[in-house]
Amino acid sequence: MDTTTDLRSITPAEADVLVRAALPAYGIDPDKAVLEMVKHRENFVYKLARAGEPDLVLRLHRPGLRTDAQIGAEMNFLAAAAERGIAVPKALRAADGSLFISAIDGFGRCCQIDLQEWITGSAQMGSIDEGLFGTSTLEPAAFRQLGTELASLHDMAEELDPRDWDSRGAWDAAGLTGSAPLWGDPLALSGMDHAQRSLLRGALDAAGAELADFGTAGDRYGPIHADLTPENVLVADGVLRVIDFDDFGPGYFLFDLVTALFWYQPHPRYGEFHDALLAGYRSVRELDRAHLLLWPALRLARGASYLGWAAERDGQPDSEFITENLLPLVLRLAENYPKGLDMTSSDTDKLLARRHATIGTHSPLFYSEPISLASADGVWLTAADGTRYLDGYNNVPHVGHCNPVVVEAARAQGMTLNLHSRYLNEPMVDYAEKLLATFPAPLERVFFTNTGSESNELALRVARQHTGNRGVLVSDFSYHGNTTSLAELTTGLAVRESLGAHVRPVHIPDLDHAAGLDEDALTARALAQVEEAIASLQAAGFGLSAVLLDPLFSTEGLNRVPRGYVAGLVQRVHAAGGLVISDEVQSGFGRTGESMWGFSLHGIAPDLVTLGKPMGNGHPMGAVVTTTELLEEFGAHNMYFNTFAGNPVSAAIGTAVLAVMGEQDLMGNSKVLGARAKQALAPMAAASSIAGAVKGTGLFFGVEINHPDGAPWADGAKAVIEHMKSHGVLVSRIGPNDNVLKMRPPMVINTGQLDLLVAAFANALASVEAGAPAPTT
Ligand code: PMP
Repeated sequence: MDTTTDLRSITPAEADVLVRAALPAYGIDPDKAVLEMVKHRENFVYKLARAGEPDLVLRLHRPGLRTDAQIGAEMNFLAAAAERGIAVPKALRAADGSLFISAIDGFGRCCQIDLQEWITGSAQMGSIDEGLFGTSTLEPAAFRQLGTELASLHDMAEELDPRDWDSRGAWDAAGLTGSAPLWGDPLALSGMDHAQRSLLRGALDAAGAELADFGTAGDRYGPIHADLTPENVLVADGVLRVIDFDDFGPGYFLFDLVTALFWYQPHPRYGEFHDALLAGYRSVRELDRAHLLLWPALRLARGASYLGWAAERDGQPDSEFITENLLPLVLRLAENYPKGLDMTSSDTDKLLARRHATIGTHSPLFYSEPISLASADGVWLTAADGTRYLDGYNNVPHVGHCNPVVVEAARAQGMTLNLHSRYLNEPMVDYAEKLLATFPAPLERVFFTNTGSESNELALRVARQHTGNRGVLVSDFSYHGNTTSLAELTTGLAVRESLGAHVRPVHIPDLDHAAGLDEDALTARALAQVEEAIASLQAAGFGLSAVLLDPLFSTEGLNRVPRGYVAGLVQRVHAAGGLVISDEVQSGFGRTGESMWGFSLHGIAPDLVTLGKPMGNGHPMGAVVTTTELLEEFGAHNMYFNTFAGNPVSAAIGTAVLAVMGEQDLMGNSKVLGARAKQALAPMAAASSIAGAVKGTGLFFGVEINHPDGAPWADGAKAVIEHMKSHGVLVSRIGPNDNVLKMRPPMVINTGQLDLLVAAFANALASVEAGAPAPTT
């Protein structure tokens, strides 16, 4: 970036005359040279073409801006770097051997002219916009390469005699954070209020003190490029060239690294770019912890320098761009200083090591490289490195991450009363009434619990006592919780317990995988299996106590069950004296958009409904909703007490969740946006060679990912998920073949955010499809 646009002192026509007059000093005939002006800001930059000769860059420096000593320092630096094979353009010497010449303008002022090689066939490595708006398609390898080039440049710079460069403006504590910084005063930028100005001033003062403390020893401070954005890096045939040394001067070596990454901070792959740049740099040159500790100070200073640059151009479009797009980021950096917004990868590694050292290595973590999360808001998650992700996966923050109504309800009740349920208190009863009001008769009683597992455990206990039987039906790929008795009926994830002798898994039919059967035949086959399972339980002496099912069949892969299947199953279970438990941990609270509870999708009347996950928006809450008869019967023989369940704070939270759901009609939102998602996904899936059926209901939807030959493709689904993550959207996958994408955002997602999710899926699908193996059949 240039430091001024004040060119009133010299017009393009005058510049042209000066430049042509200077060419003979380089042995170039002005009549045989074609000069094309490519930029005029701080200096005039021309492309100089001659027949049969390589193109050149010619710079005419604005009169009075730099002394000869300063231009000489820059050109000597370039020449020294090029001699060592470092990726900079070669400087051309004039006939007398000098690296620049002086011309006299019409006012008798001296202005310098220099020539460098033109890098043919090159493109800029990146742009400010692409970084800032997250659209850059750069791979981390490009930053790694840049890191190695920078380290070589710094290695060379460290050896130079300070007299060769100290004539230039210094990017030191004063030049960056002092009262007259090199690129202008950031505090002079309009668009900041008083509080923001003092926040920035305070942070810059502190950063300046940190820089001053760090000092200017030769291994950390020397001649740097100082404007090393990817716009100033050209790439030709995979080779990088660093150009535009206009801002070259003494400064912290780390400043070049900070600058290279600065505009990419909002990019979803920032963490990877950061790690790659540092890894490349470290492969050549040491970068110790003291340097890295300086990162937040230099990053803030870099941001402030852009604000200062914009302040000098108040009212111009460039300035408005910075005020609009960069100012909020710099203020955030200031607010977080000195802590810094990001963790380096080594911080993440350390956290991971601490996790492993405490909770062990077996507790699952999403993603090949786990994301370290720092904060959240609505549907957005912010990682410790500052990257923002759209949450397309989590159903626990049902009414939005950190929902202020819910948080306030917890705070207010927590400040008033919180204890167990053996004393009368209003909030629990109030919540019980509101929750039960969402159920059809005769579901009019509730047991409170804290988790989905506890709810299912209790429901099984109720069923066993009521029926006097032990046998349980579950689906053949399901998960209902982590207690001993639930582990014995887990079929959808690894557990060491063998399937209980009293458990019979049944296969849930899926119209998308009907093996040629029509709907009726599929239903008949599946129900025959149910009858067999019940008969087998009876024959073994267990009898049937219950069927436990998730009415959305989410773990199973969001099966599209035939009409009448679930009702037929329920009818057979009841006929055999068993109870029906609808596990609404996934499907409840309006998730399907069709009704508050998933069982209504199938027109069935369960005896017990188990709740969890979304109930407390992240606060542990669960419940079993049942009939008066079942609750009375169980209560008469067991003292059911649960210390935390239904406590006043939990109850206040549950009430707030229901209130937000109602006020914002989140069930309605789920219906409308679920339909919108399916409408967008269906044609995408139809057009893709690796997408199968589109699954799900409401804001719980998915797409099957298959090999081009049609077989389920778990690695393909994983690749789609990783691609979406690297583009800022989080989703997961389910199903026995692990190939059904699971998209289940918080219910507060809006249309624009849903469209982002769908667009990220479309990109990921296209990218994975492009790399898919050829069909084998
Ligand atoms: N039921 C279903 C359908 C679930 O998905 C889960 C959790 N994934 C549970 C029960 C268990 O809930 P919790 O983890 O709260 O014990």
